[in-house]
Amino acid sequence: MNTKYIFVTGGVASSLGKGIVAASLANLLQARGLRVTIQKFDPYINIDPGTLNPYEHGECYVTEDGAETDLDLGHYERFLNVRTSKANNVTTGKIYKTVIDNERAGVYLGKTVQIIPHITNEIKRRMTLLGKNGDYDVIITEIGGTVGDMESTPFLEAVRQFKWEMNEGDCIIMHLTLVPLLHAAAEIKTKPTQHSVRMLRQEGINPDIIVCRTEVSLPEGVKKKIALFSNIRPDSVFESRNAESIYEIPIQLHEQGVDKIVLKKLKIKNLPEPDLTEWKAFLKRMFSPKTEVDIALIGKYVELQDAYKSIQESFVHAGAACSCKVNVHTIQSEHLTASNIKGELKGMGGILVAPGFGERGTDGKILAVNYARRNKIPFFGICLGMQMAVIEYAKNVLKLENATSTEIKPDTSTPIIDLMQEQKSTTIKGGTMRLGAYDCLLKPGTLIRKIYGKERIAERHRHRYEFNEKYAKQMEKAGMVLSGVNPQTGLVEAIELPQNKHPFFIGVQFHPELGSTVLKPQPIFVAFVKAALKKSKDLAR
Ligand code: GLN
Repeated sequence: MNTKYIFVTGGVASSLGKGIVAASLANLLQARGLRVTIQKFDPYINIDPGTLNPYEHGECYVTEDGAETDLDLGHYERFLNVRTSKANNVTTGKIYKTVIDNERAGVYLGKTVQIIPHITNEIKRRMTLLGKNGDYDVIITEIGGTVGDMESTPFLEAVRQFKWEMNEGDCIIMHLTLVPLLHAAAEIKTKPTQHSVRMLRQEGINPDIIVCRTEVSLPEGVKKKIALFSNIRPDSVFESRNAESIYEIPIQLHEQGVDKIVLKKLKIKNLPEPDLTEWKAFLKRMFSPKTEVDIALIGKYVELQDAYKSIQESFVHAGAACSCKVNVHTIQSEHLTASNIKGELKGMGGILVAPGFGERGTDGKILAVNYARRNKIPFFGICLGMQMAVIEYAKNVLKLENATSTEIKPDTSTPIIDLMQEQKSTTIKGGTMRLGAYDCLLKPGTLIRKIYGKERIAERHRHRYEFNEKYAKQMEKAGMVLSGVNPQTGLVEAIELPQNKHPFFIGVQFHPELGSTVLKPQPIFVAFVKAALKKSKDLAR
């Protein structure tokens, strides 16, 4: 079978959940036995979101091969349980950079370099890259932004040409739009959808399938009207209703027959019904928890829902695995003080100190570590969170009162956390952190080793600073266990306190949350939820 292509565009408004719909469709096709991947094309000019503030763009998701990407790639991995790569996220910046570099190298042989054909050709080349080795039956491409945005135009033109060049049945377009319910008039409005389809058609693209984001179930008449004005069959208009959980969307789409129509349009025959047994078992566990637990997530980007997306989702996966509802309480680290911390963290079964950059909010994070350590509350520190745990221990147990990170105080006398050697000569910001998956060896007898059940793991990183090995001996002598080390460089990747001192105190320099999926919950998160549950039961006694 040729590789088949599905393009997903968005109309009316952003944040409709195009990534979730794309991932859900991919999930259904995968559950029918197809090999599927998803890629995202983002119209912004940044080369990647690595230099973007989380307030601008939510979490920056890191792939195993070290690309800093859009957070939708996290959804793709969580829904599909397969890894994405550098090639799965393309931006306008990357496209133009390639074309401009080519121009300087003389590749275009004296031609005037233009949006059509040079930019659109480069977009089309990138669209087929993942399909080159025949690894996939279906490639879904999500086009970021909203139809009608000036910056999406070259991408839509490339989609138009792409479809024109393909054989009938090898490429389809799915358009996701918003169908609002006007509460005052109690009316469902199709006009915005009509307009967005018209705008898509102005770009020369006729959608094959329309998915309507809606608060309520759409009456048949409404779908028929949308079909009529969009010039498609009524059986090709679907809805994506508000759901309690994003993980319900594959089921919702399947119940309407979306996957069936997609296969019909792609001329893929004789596939079995999707096997959704494990997925449904997950949903059942998630929706009928036997217990619940409160966990504090201490960070500085808490105002933005998407800033800690992967951590939040990891708790959903881990919670379902333990039949436990995890209530994640995000707490602004800047607001924590010695006098309010007890009140702020009251009743929490576990405390997670989040990743982050810069000095802002670090005092509160250190206070939170201290509170968790002294009160034997399960503690989980990720990246900056681990660094804070190390600093807290150095300050309060080793009594190195000036202990800090050179990220916080560059001229400190006590750099417990310091810039990695390779980072010292780095001046450029974009794509220069220590990125991607690195091996780590876990020390025998440690809690983390027990949790993973193996010696060698590989997890993803995104940082510039590290545990300063000059303090390793002192820290170990004072009781901190350096439980994970990179076998090539000797960098400390994980720390913990022995279990006779603390029931669960783990810090990791890597980002385990990036690897958690619905079908494979991340083991540290699972163990942390269990430890937090135990602690809350003890607290309730
Ligand atoms: N700012 C820290 C560093 O660069 C931690 C980064 C992170 O939490 N991702 O090392």
